[in-house]
Amino acid sequence: MDEATPPAQLSVRCWGTRGSIPSPGPATTRYGGNTSCVAVRVGGRCFIFDAGTGIRPLGHQILDLSRTPDTPLFLTHFHWDHIQGLPFFVPLYTEGAVLKILGPRQPDADMREIFERQMAPIHFPVPFSMVAAQLDFGHMEHDEWEDGGVTVRSMQVRHPSTVLGYRIEAGGVSVCFIPDNELEGEGYDLGPDWRARLVEFVGGADLLIHDSMYTDSEYAERRGWGHSTFRQSVDLARDAGVRRLLFFHHDPQRSDDALDAIVDRTRDEAAARGVSLEMAAAAEGEEIHLHEGRP
Ligand SMILES: [Zn+2]
Ligand SMILES: [Zn+2]
Repeated sequence: MDEATPPAQLSVRCWGTRGSIPSPGPATTRYGGNTSCVAVRVGGRCFIFDAGTGIRPLGHQILDLSRTPDTPLFLTHFHWDHIQGLPFFVPLYTEGAVLKILGPRQPDADMREIFERQMAPIHFPVPFSMVAAQLDFGHMEHDEWEDGGVTVRSMQVRHPSTVLGYRIEAGGVSVCFIPDNELEGEGYDLGPDWRARLVEFVGGADLLIHDSMYTDSEYAERRGWGHSTFRQSVDLARDAGVRRLLFFHHDPQRSDDALDAIVDRTRDEAAARGVSLEMAAAAEGEEIHLHEGRP
């Protein structure tokens, strides 16, 4: 870093970008095969979003939660691709560690029970009682979570069950993480002003990480499955005045080359519609540094 470059206020690293199911193999090495997990670092602190299989290698980097005791984990929801990595998150097995797990309240399921069931003998060999870390569960509802100058807000989005998107702000920069959200589908009872509230929630973000699972032609067949298209994400980013957009929740069938071709086409179409916006496919392992007032 040269002297003219100030330290980043906030950095974002994608540990898993894939939707639905892990998809390792030679066709997905560049964008990655692990499912949803993103780490946001502010100063020396780490905030984890989602516990898909990407949280496993992140856990090996963190190793000992008792040395980084304030590591909260925010979950968007409890579909497999967003929680499947948690039993393999090695800091869970550290004596004296504390992990705060925050997520949406479900009308018919207790969060601790969800994780106990995930580690029941029928599904997993190591019993939940072997978890040495203290797990503190909490719900994100309409509230704002604030700790040491970092603010996390949540908003309910359109996806089966009760599902959240998050907005993280620190040091004058902001990131929105909305991995599963059906922008144009029907059948979600979130009120007529939902889209306007979402645009406001995402408004002016320096970085938006958004569900872009399908092309427009694929979506015609998969309407109602809970996901959005590349074009729909671009339109949300445009309407909300977002600076930079990362397409996320890649279809497990999508090769890196196919993803490149779709992103190129989406950029061209956006430019033809007069939308000027930086956009790319989220890549596992890539780290993005955000500075106040700078791209
Ligand atoms: Zn998902
Ligand atoms: Zn989901």
